[in-house]
Amino acid sequence: MLQHAATPADAAVPPAAALGVTEPYSAGIGGGGYFVSYDARTGRVQTLDGRETAPLSADSSLFLENGKPLPFADAVTSGRSVGVPGTAATWAQALRLWGTRSLGEVLRPAERIADRGFVVDQTFQDQTALNAARFQDFPATRQLFLPDGKPPAVGSMLRNPDLAATYRELGRSGVDALYRGDLGADIVRTVQHPPVDPAATRVVRPGRLDAGDLAAYRVREQAPTHVDYRGYDVYSIAPSSSGGTTVGEALNILSGSDLGALDSTQYYHRFLEASRIAFADRGRWVGDPRFEDVPTRQLLSEPYAASRACLISPDHALTSPLAPGDPRHPADCASSGPAVQETYEGPNTTHLTVADRWGDVVSYTLTIEQTGGSAITVPGRGFLLNNELTDFSFVPSTPGVPDPNLPGPGKRPRSSIAPTIVLKDGEPAFATGSPGGATIITTVLQVLLGRIDRGLSLEQAIAAPRASQRNLAAADAEPAFLALPDAARLRALGQVLAPNPEIGAATGIERLPDGRWLAASEPVRRGGGAAAVVHPVGAQ
Ligand code: GLU
Repeated sequence: MLQHAATPADAAVPPAAALGVTEPYSAGIGGGGYFVSYDARTGRVQTLDGRETAPLSADSSLFLENGKPLPFADAVTSGRSVGVPGTAATWAQALRLWGTRSLGEVLRPAERIADRGFVVDQTFQDQTALNAARFQDFPATRQLFLPDGKPPAVGSMLRNPDLAATYRELGRSGVDALYRGDLGADIVRTVQHPPVDPAATRVVRPGRLDAGDLAAYRVREQAPTHVDYRGYDVYSIAPSSSGGTTVGEALNILSGSDLGALDSTQYYHRFLEASRIAFADRGRWVGDPRFEDVPTRQLLSEPYAASRACLISPDHALTSPLAPGDPRHPADCASSGPAVQETYEGPNTTHLTVADRWGDVVSYTLTIEQTGGSAITVPGRGFLLNNELTDFSFVPSTPGVPDPNLPGPGKRPRSSIAPTIVLKDGEPAFATGSPGGATIITTVLQVLLGRIDRGLSLEQAIAAPRASQRNLAAADAEPAFLALPDAARLRALGQVLAPNPEIGAATGIERLPDGRWLAASEPVRRGGGAAAVVHPVGAQ
C-alpha cells in the first residue's frame, strides 16, 4: 500500500507495472486486464475494460485451418493468438481519469526494479521451467528468461534492462509510443513475423495484427456489475468479462439460503450448485457486448436468480452439463435450449488489490493469458506478448447453439476475471480477486461467502480449501478439500469431486473498524502471496 498516493489510480499503477517486471509470465504491457476502482472522494466504483482485442481482420474462422480448429497448443504459441494489448492504455486512462501523477512518475519504481533486477523465487523458476521448451525456440525470450540456457537459479537476480528502457520510453512519450509509434511497429513486426529460431522445429503461425489495430484500440470505461448480497454492495467487472455477472448471479441464487446457519456440507453443496447454474448461463449468454446481445442486467436480476435457485435440492446434486435458463423470460426451474459445453481455460495470471490511507481501493487483475503468454518476446523490448485470443471459442462450443464467444473483428474474448470491491453502507468493507482462468469465478465467490456468511476472517477465507464446479461433470477439489469430512458427504449427495492440486491465488484487503487496513494473501498457494501494509497508520 502506498501511503502518499492521492487517488486509486496513483496507488494501483506502480505495483501493476512492478508485476510486469517480477511476474512477466502473467502481467505486463504485452497483455490486458480489468481494473475496478473505488474513489473515496466521490464514493463511486468505476471500471476499465482493458481487454486485448482481436485484429479488425479477424472473423469467426480465426482459429480454423482447412475447416478444422487448430490444436490448442499450436494456437497458444503463435502470432495468431496475440490480441491488441490493453494494459499500457489502461494505466494511462486510469491516470488521466482519476490520477494526479504522470505515467513517467508512476512507472519509475518498476523501471528501477527492472534495471537492478529482482530475486528469483521457486515459483518463478518453476514457471520458467514449465515454459522452457517454448522459450528456447525464441532467441529474444531465451536470452531474457533462460540465462545460461536454463531457468535462472532460485536466489539469483534477474535483470530486464530492455523493459526498463521500454517503461522509460512510455514515460517520456506516453502510450502513443505503443499504439502509434515505434514500440507499436516492433509489436506488429513480431506478431506478423514471429522471431523464431531457424533451428527450431516448431511451426509458429503469424498473426495479422497491424498498425491500424493498435491505433484503433480503446479502453472501455463502463459501469460495474452490482448486486446487494445480505446488505453488502458487491461490485465487479461487467462483460466482456463473465466474472461480475457469474459471481453476481451465484450470489443472488444463494441469497435465499441462510448459508451462515447451514452445516458445512450443505454450505458447500449449495456453493457448488449455485456455481454450476451460473456457469450454465454464462456459457450461453456472455460474450463481448459490442458484438452480442448480452443480458447483463437480467442475469443479475433477483427474479431470475430465484427462477434458477429453485433447481437446487438439499438432497441431491444436479448433473452437468446443465441447460441454461432464459434471463429475459424467467420461469421457475425452466431451461432454455440445450446445455452448452464449457470450453478450456487454464489456471493462469495474477491479481493485485491495493488501498491507500484515504480509503481508495483498486482491485485489478492483469493477464497475458497462459503463464508465459505466447512465449514470444518483442525483441529488444523486454516483454512477452499475450495469447489472449485463445479465450475465444475456436468453433461453436455446442453445435446448433449460438455461441457468444466466437472471434470477430475488433472483438474481445470472454474473460473470467472478477476483480471485486465490497462496500457496506457506502464505505469500503473489503476487496478481493484471483487468477486462475474460469476458477477465478468460483475462487472469488468462495472468498466472499467465507467472509460474509461463514464467519471467517479475510485471511481464513483466502486460505480455506477450495472446490470449483463450472458446469462440468466433476468439480475440481484441492487435496485439503478432499480431506474434509464433507467430501464424502458431498459425494453421497451426488457431487462428483476430482482432485486439482491448487485452485486460484487470491489477495485481498479489508478496512478494519478503526479505519486501518488489513492486507491478506495466500499463505501457501503459488509459493505464498504478498501482502503488506506499508505504512501502518490509523485513518486520517
Ligand atoms: N485468460 C484468462 C481470463 O481472462 C485469464 C488468464 C487465466 O487466469 O487463465 O479469464
